[in-house]
Parts: sequence; structure tokens; C-alpha cells
Amino acid sequence: MPKTLSTNDHDRNIAGLRYVYPVISRRSGGLSIGINFNPNNACNWHCVYCQVPGLQRGNAPEMDFDLLERELRSFLNQVLNGDFYQRFNVPEPQRVIKDIAISGNGEPTSLKNLDKAIKLIGDIASQVGVFPGSRYVLISNGSLINQAGVQQGLETLARYNGELWFKVDSATESGRKLINRTGQSQQKLLEHLQIAAKLCRTKIQTCVFSYRFAWSDQEKQAYLSLLKQLRQMGIDIEQVMLYSLARPSLQAEAVELAKASAATMDALAADVKALGYNVSVSY
Ligand code: SF4
Repeated sequence: MPKTLSTNDHDRNIAGLRYVYPVISRRSGGLSIGINFNPNNACNWHCVYCQVPGLQRGNAPEMDFDLLERELRSFLNQVLNGDFYQRFNVPEPQRVIKDIAISGNGEPTSLKNLDKAIKLIGDIASQVGVFPGSRYVLISNGSLINQAGVQQGLETLARYNGELWFKVDSATESGRKLINRTGQSQQKLLEHLQIAAKLCRTKIQTCVFSYRFAWSDQEKQAYLSLLKQLRQMGIDIEQVMLYSLARPSLQAEAVELAKASAATMDALAADVKALGYNVSVSY
């Protein structure tokens, strides 16, 4: 019986490949082709809601560029010219490549030669006609944007009209320590957002959920103040994307986490919108 690829199925081994995995994305309403630069499950952060199994601290391992190229070409060929959709029982309306998203089991910008990888993926997708029709997305926690190599990667991403999804789960240092287990300072966060927005289209991605003091009234006000400050500083954020916990965390903190209610999400979205932002909500 063919395996059904559902919106809940984010198994990164489903295609049996090292770097490339398919996801039918709730958010995008079609096929999202994920590229995992971190098959070692290593990230420089440790978010309490992270869905990476066996998450460890560290960087992406050395990339096997030949393998990445072979996997992506053959996978795209199966989708565009083969029986991929039939084999995985993908419903007719969702048989469309919505995006290619660099989003893996860790922080992708920790990859050495990030720029080369972004270019390789962009070139292959352009050659087979997936770009410019589908989106090119880099999902990042934004913590390494001060590095020249990462900035070069963002410039390259911009050449394919790609977009960066920059994680901001809290606007306070104590909130980021609690949620992301990072000591990222406020100044660094602002600097990195400023650099990112100058180099490529940048969207803020925020996970809203309940966990200790995360999203307390004080935290919410700090978040809105940060968004206000970004506008005052002229930092151009294309969209604020709010989402809650769609799948269970695989970290020890999972038992303490709860999804935000639709009412909480809607109220926050209305406040963000009132600041002049384009907002999307995924419950
Ligand atoms: S930044 Fe992403 S991969 Fe890293 S710990 Fe957080 S959710 Fe997991």
C-alpha cells in the first residue's frame, strides 16, 4: 500500500534521502521540499518546542555537494516527471511545489559554504523550472547573521528572490533564555534583523504557546514594542508569521508546553496588524 503523505507527516527520512525530504505543508497548501543541512541533529540553540529527535548542540556537518545535487535533481525529476504524487497518495489540489525550504534538524546557517549550497539549490531549481514559480525559503534562528559567510548566503538567496524566515520567539533576553536556551542579547537581535532585512526579503517567524512565563502579558508587550522599534529603525520586515505548536516537542520540556488558543493567536495578530505589519496566523 502506498504511504500517504499527510500534513502531519514531517518524517525527514520518508524519501530515504540524506538531504532532501518532502512535506505536505499545512501552511503552504502544497508540497514543500525541505533541504536538511543538519542530518546530525545539531543546532546552536535548544528551543523547548523543538521537534528534532536527539537534538544536540553543534553545527551542520561538512556538506557532500555531489550527493546534494544528485538527490535534489532526482527528487525533482520524480515530482515533475515521475509518479511521486501517486506513490505518496498526495491529494490532487496539493500536487504543486509551493516552495523549496532550507529547514533541517538544526540551524542551517551553521553550514560551512552556506553560499555555495544556496546557489546550487537555486541553480538546479531554476534549471528545471521550479523557480521562479515556487518560493525559495531559508528558515533560520538568525543567530549567525553577523558572519560574513552567512551574509554572502543571504545575498545569493536574494538573487533567486528568496526569503529568510527569522525566528523571534521572545523580545526579551530572559524570554529567549527560557524558550530558545540562548544568551542572545537584545542588541544582537536588532543588529541581525537589520543586516538580514538589508540583504534579502525577511519575515519574522514566531511560535506562540504556553510555557512558564513565555507569552505572559509582559512578554507580549515586549514583543509588540520590539516590532514597533523595528519600524522606527526603518527595518523592513515583509511579514510576521505567528504559529503555535502543530506537533509535539521532542525535548524534555514537552510536558510543560501547551498550544496557544485560537483566541490568543487572533488577539496577538490583531495587535501586530495594528502596528502596520502584514500578519499570517497558523493555528
Ligand atoms: S533553532 Fe530550530 S532546530 Fe534549533 S533548537 Fe530551535 S527549533 Fe530546534
